[in-house]
Amino acid sequence: MKRWVVISLLLFALNVFSQSDGRKVVLVIHGGAGTILRSQMTPEKEKEYKDALSAALYRGYAILKKGGSSLDAVEAAVKVLEDDPHFNAGKGAVFTSEGKNELDASVMNGENLMAGAVAGVTTIKNPVSAARAVMEKSNHVMMTGAGAEMFARQNGVIIVPPSYFYTEERWRSLRNVKKEDSLKTELDHSGKKSSSAIYPFKNHDSKFGTVGAVALDQKGNLAAATSTGGMTNKRFGRVGDSPVIGAGTYASNATCAISCTGWGEYFIRLVMAKTVSDMMEFGKMSLAAASEEMIMKRLPALGGDGGLIAVDKMGNISMPFNTEGMYRAYIDEKGVPVIKIYKDK
Ligand code: ASP
Repeated sequence: MKRWVVISLLLFALNVFSQSDGRKVVLVIHGGAGTILRSQMTPEKEKEYKDALSAALYRGYAILKKGGSSLDAVEAAVKVLEDDPHFNAGKGAVFTSEGKNELDASVMNGENLMAGAVAGVTTIKNPVSAARAVMEKSNHVMMTGAGAEMFARQNGVIIVPPSYFYTEERWRSLRNVKKEDSLKTELDHSGKKSSSAIYPFKNHDSKFGTVGAVALDQKGNLAAATSTGGMTNKRFGRVGDSPVIGAGTYASNATCAISCTGWGEYFIRLVMAKTVSDMMEFGKMSLAAASEEMIMKRLPALGGDGGLIAVDKMGNISMPFNTEGMYRAYIDEKGVPVIKIYKDK
């Protein structure tokens, strides 16, 4: 073969390689929205949160950069946050009113609309991996309680004793919340807030701390994952929005990938994540316009609060929230991490 032919072939191969490597990948994560006040944060604490978020970010981003799937990236990032006691998911899960930790998680693949979720599990170290097992190894979308745990065990997901989830800080939060709410623990099913029936979650410890991730990979596939311990002092098998596909989590290559955090009952009633996707698909709205309309207007209009992270098929990012703060982070196109906690930064 002539020398110039060999050189051209080499140049062509190099070009193809760098094109696929250079394709836009995006990873966005959150560690929960709520009353996160600068005045209550020490520089040390702030650094701890930022370090934890950046560890999760790098774990997921390394997968995307190597050409891995958005699904692998969101699972990996969420697992890092689940293993970190700073967040209300996995190891840092909050306590139910009975003093237990009941975890919920979900995952969705935007390429084929496959989805998996677990709810009310008490022995699964990384509920996001159990959710993925439900999606990939069963014919179902959601499994709950003991059945979900049995299924996870059978599929090689790590099982731990319930005591693994105990943390002193969350236990203290439960005690404080119980004290504050002892007079007003009835659920107002009408959705209106009245002085005699205030939902037991409106308390000083309203920093929710759920975790989630959304990603766009080199092939253009979107994925989303969310994991939570729910809300402190939750009652009677309560399940929030996090494991509910379309409410707390949604992904479709036609539109976007979304993971929500906040007062779950409101996110379920607004079918939050799927509504944003529908506003894009059927209403031809941009990701930013749709997600801001839902989080900044529709959610507070109903009395709820929280936020979401989202990425669309073009790689645009949106991270609206209507609380004091939201732990959130993404890696920009140049691979530089951007981590924010409060409204301004
Ligand atoms: N959305 C979660 C739930 O209601 C809580 C949170 O995001 O912090 O269970």
